[in-house]
Amino acid sequence: MEEIILKGVAAAPGIIFGYAFILDKQDFVIAPRTIMENEVPSEIARFLEAVIHAKDEIVDLKNKIDAQKRANETQIFDAHLMILEDRSLINDVEKRIRAEKLSAEYIFMEVIRDYLSKFANIDDEYLRERASDINDIGRRVLKNLVDEDRLHALDNVEEKLIIIGHDLSPSDTASMYNKNIIGFATDIGGKTSHTAIMAKSLGVPAVVGLKDATLRIRNQDYLIVDGERGMVVVNPKEETLSQYKSQQTKIQETRDRIQEIKDLPCETTDGKKIGLYANLELPEEMPAIISSGADGIGLYRTEFFYMNRMDLPSEDEQFEVYKNVVEQMKGGMVTIRTLDIGGDKFLSTLQIPIDMSPSLGWRGIQFCLRQPDIFKTQLRAILRASAFGNLRLMYPMISGVQELRQANALLEEAKLNLKEEGVAFDENMPVGVMIEIPAAALMADMLARETDFFSIGTNDLIQYTFAIDRVNEQTAQLYEPANPAILRLIRVTIEAAHKEGIKVSLCGEMSGELALAFILLGLEVDDLSMSSVSILQIKNMIRNVTYKKAKEVAHEAVSLATSEEVETITLNRLKTMAPDLFNAQH
Ligand code: PEP
Ligand code: MG
Repeated sequence: MEEIILKGVAAAPGIIFGYAFILDKQDFVIAPRTIMENEVPSEIARFLEAVIHAKDEIVDLKNKIDAQKRANETQIFDAHLMILEDRSLINDVEKRIRAEKLSAEYIFMEVIRDYLSKFANIDDEYLRERASDINDIGRRVLKNLVDEDRLHALDNVEEKLIIIGHDLSPSDTASMYNKNIIGFATDIGGKTSHTAIMAKSLGVPAVVGLKDATLRIRNQDYLIVDGERGMVVVNPKEETLSQYKSQQTKIQETRDRIQEIKDLPCETTDGKKIGLYANLELPEEMPAIISSGADGIGLYRTEFFYMNRMDLPSEDEQFEVYKNVVEQMKGGMVTIRTLDIGGDKFLSTLQIPIDMSPSLGWRGIQFCLRQPDIFKTQLRAILRASAFGNLRLMYPMISGVQELRQANALLEEAKLNLKEEGVAFDENMPVGVMIEIPAAALMADMLARETDFFSIGTNDLIQYTFAIDRVNEQTAQLYEPANPAILRLIRVTIEAAHKEGIKVSLCGEMSGELALAFILLGLEVDDLSMSSVSILQIKNMIRNVTYKKAKEVAHEAVSLATSEEVETITLNRLKTMAPDLFNAQH
C-alpha cells in the first residue's frame, strides 16, 4: 500500500504508531466484529431487514409531509429511497459480508464511507450534495442495525487504537481518559482549539486541522501520528517507520532524563525563579499534574465541568470537586477560572443558540454577568472551597474595569450571603483577571489597581489581535504567538502589573513551547501555566539559560518586524546557549 503523508497542526507532543479507528462525523463507533461462515446468511438477512425498515420509516415521513402539502420537501425523501433501492449498494454490502466475514453494521459503514469519499472528490455541486443524502441514509440504516447507545460509546474500543475524527466533541475526549486510545487526529481545529487542549491533557500525541483525514484514512490503516511536527503518515514505508522509531526513542530518553529535575527549583542559572503551574481541564488529570512537579494549578478551566451533561452542576457538586482539587494540591496554589462559555467551548446544556456563541459572540464574563444565578452558584462553590487550601479565583474575557467591578459586586454579594449563613470561606482569597482581549491589555494599568493578579490568555489574545479564529485550520498559518504585536501587548501588561506590585502569569498554549517560553521569561513574566506534559521540558529550559540573556532577546524581539524574525533570533540564541534542549527535536 502506498505511503501517504497528511499535514496538519501539531496539537499534542509525542510520536505514536498504531491502527486507525474512524469516528465519523456522526460519531458512529463501530468496531469490526468477526462472524463465522455459518452466520453469513443471517447477517445478510439482518442487513436487508434494516434496509426495509429504513425504507418504511422514510415512506412514513414522506406521507406525513405530503399530508401537510410541503411538496418540495418530499423530494429529499425520494432521493433517500432511490439510494436504498440502488442494487449496487446492496450488492456491495452483501459481497463484502461474504468475503470479509465481518458484521453487517461494520461492512455497511465501510461501504458508505467509500461512497462518501468518491463523492467528496467529484467536482459537481449537485453530486456533492448527494453525499449528504448518503450520510443520512447511512445513519438511518445503522440505527436499525445497532442500538443507538452503542453507536456513541468509545467504551467499545478494546484494542489500542488511534482515533480519527472530523472533530472530537468534549464528550468524546472526556470519555477517552484511561481508555485504549493512544493518539488522535482530526480534520478540523487549530493549535488552541478545545480538541488540541484536551489532547494535551490526555497526554496522547495528536494532530488536528488535517482537513480530510477522515476521507483519506480507512479503518485499520497503520499510522504514525507525529504530534511534534503535526503530521500523520498512513501506511508508512519501512524506512519511514524506522526513522520515526528512533526519534520516538530519543524523545522518550529525553523525557526520562529530565525526570531528574522534577523536584529541583525552576530557576535560571543566574538565580531568577519562575513559578511553573499546570492547566487543568478535568479532575482526572490530577495524578499527572501532581507527578509533573508543578507548583500548583495556574488555570482550572471549569467549563468542562458544565459540558457533557443535560443539567447544570449544583453548588454542592461544584464545591466537592473544587475542594478535592485544592486539597490534593496540598497547599500548592489553585487558580479557578469562572465559567468561560463560548467560542468552541460551547455548552449544549445551556441551550444557547449556536449563533450566539462564536468567538465574537456572547461569551466569558459577559455571559456570566447576564446569568447571575449560574455565576453566583459557581462563586459560592469556589468561595466555600477556598476554606480548604490555597485558592485564587479569576474572571475570563474581561474587557475593562466596568466588567471587573460588576463581577466583583456579585462576588461581594455571594460573600455576604455566605457570611450570613455562617459558612466558612477565605476572606483574603485573591481575585484576578485574565488578560486575553486587546482592550484589557491596553487598560492593564487601570485593571491592575483593582485586582490581585493577572493571567494572560494568549490563545484568545492572539485570535482577537489578528482577527483570526483560533479554531479554524484555514487560518492556522496566521496564528502567530511570536508576532511582535503580541509580545508588545504582553510587555505592556506585565509592566503595568509590576508597577502596581501585582504578579503576572501566562496560561495560553505558548507557555509550553520552548522558544516562546524563553521570550516570556525575558519579558519578565512571573509564572507560566501550561499543560502538565510540557512542564518538565520548560523547567529544563529555564534551568539552562540566564535571565540576563532572556531579557536581552525579549528586548530585541519586541523591536523586530515579523514573527519569523523573532523566531529565528530566539531559536538561534537558545540553541547557542543550551544546545542539548533540542536533541530530540528536528
Ligand atoms: C487563553 O485564552 O489563552 C486561555 C488560556 O483560555 P482558553 O484557552 O480556555 O480560552
Ligand atoms: Mg481564553
